[in-house]
Formats: sequence, C-alpha cells, structure tokens
Amino acid sequence: MEADYILTYQSNLQFKTDMTTKDIFTSTTFVGSFPSHEDLPLDEGDEIAFCGRSNSGKSSVINALTKNKKLAKTSKTPGRTQAINLFCLKNNENKRLIDLPGYGYAKVSKSKRQQWGLVIDEYLNRRKSLKGLVIIMDIRHPLKDSDQMLIRWCQETQTPFLVVLNKADKFSKNKSFSELQKTKKLMKGITVSHEITAFSSKDFLGLSDVIKCLEKFLSL
Ligand code: GDP
Repeated sequence: MEADYILTYQSNLQFKTDMTTKDIFTSTTFVGSFPSHEDLPLDEGDEIAFCGRSNSGKSSVINALTKNKKLAKTSKTPGRTQAINLFCLKNNENKRLIDLPGYGYAKVSKSKRQQWGLVIDEYLNRRKSLKGLVIIMDIRHPLKDSDQMLIRWCQETQTPFLVVLNKADKFSKNKSFSELQKTKKLMKGITVSHEITAFSSKDFLGLSDVIKCLEKFLSL
C-alpha cells in the first residue's frame, strides 16, 4: 500500500490554525485507569492508542483533540502517566481512546521503565480492538529509538498509524514544514498505511487532519 500522507503542500504553506473540532471528540469521557491490558474492559469495538515519549505532549494532544484541558493529566513533570487510561467517545463504549504510559523518561529507575515498557508491549500485542496508533513526538526531536521501534511494530503487524509532530509552535512555519518533510523522507520505506502531521496543542495547528485520521481509524 502507498504511504498515505494527509498534509498537502498547500496546507503546509498556508499553515492555517484550525480551531474546528467535531462534537464526537469533545464529548469524550474518562472511563478509568487500568494497571495492565488484563484489567481493561471487554476487548470489543474500536480503539485508538496514543503513545509517545514522556514530555512529547501526549496528554496535551488528547486534551486539544477533546477540547478539554483537564481530561488527560498534563504535567510539567514528565513520566506521570503510569497506567493505561481509557476514554470513550460520546458515552459509546465501543469507540475508545487509550492513553498509554509515556516511555523514555530517564529520571525513573530502569526497572520502572521496563515495567511500563511491558505494559505497552502487552497492550499492543494482545488488544484486538486496537485499530490505529497515534505516535506523538516533539517536532524538535522526532524518531527517537523507541518511536522507531513502535513504527517497526506497526509495519510488522500492519497496524495503521499517525505520527503527530507536536509543539510545532516552537518553530517557524517554514522550519516546521521542513522538519515534516525530513521526517517523511526518513519514513520512506514504511508501507503500512500511515499519516504524518505537524501539530500544536497550544494553538490547535493540524487539528482537523488529526480528527480526519482518527475518524478513519475508528470507522466513524
Ligand atoms: P506528556 O508527558 O507526553 O503527556 O506531555 P504533557 O502533555 O504533560 O506536556 C509536557 C510539556 O510540554 C508541558 O509543559 C506542556 O505544556 C508542553 N506542551 C505540550 N504540547 C505542547 C505544544 O504543542 N506546544 C508547546 N509549546 N508546549 C507543549
């Protein structure tokens, strides 16, 4: 399958800030925190998992998507999300968002990191309702080793994914655009369906592209 990029040249050049969002994501509710995939509710319906290195802005991306600043905890101290957080759309238990623990936080012990890695690993490999992965990266440090591992896993398991290059507001429009192109080039060999977008949780840049992609993953 051809790589499927959602950002057009034109939309990159114009770099419009997109404030529109559909009610379907704004009425997302928190269901609960679960220590491992075994504790999660029934493995039915469709879900999307959000993953990313600690401090990449994973919680902020979820909050931007749902227009709810308090939904996923954001913190200036990285590495706080240690459990699997589950949200459902419009009280529809069959359409879910999953917030996986952040990875790669150097200041926690090696054993803690391994434990969180295992939680992510088991979730990814066992959860049948997983329909797509959102891999969040800081646009200033994309494609770190653990991000690449996740992409390789998506390729091997043919799981569609979306790369969100977050914190694009830290760069000029031109610099964000060139980083996006550079990252796309580095992912050239990836054949599983994937998309990549520059994003900002601060000013909602790229939000409509993310929404479109997530709707596809969730068959909405
Ligand atoms: P997480 O650990 O991946 O869940 O990251 P958080 O969502 O808690 O964000 C980590 C830090 O990055 C916080 O200080 C956020 O305010 C900041 N942050 C998140 N997204 C953005 C963004 O799009 N732009 C900027 N400038 N900062 C962001």
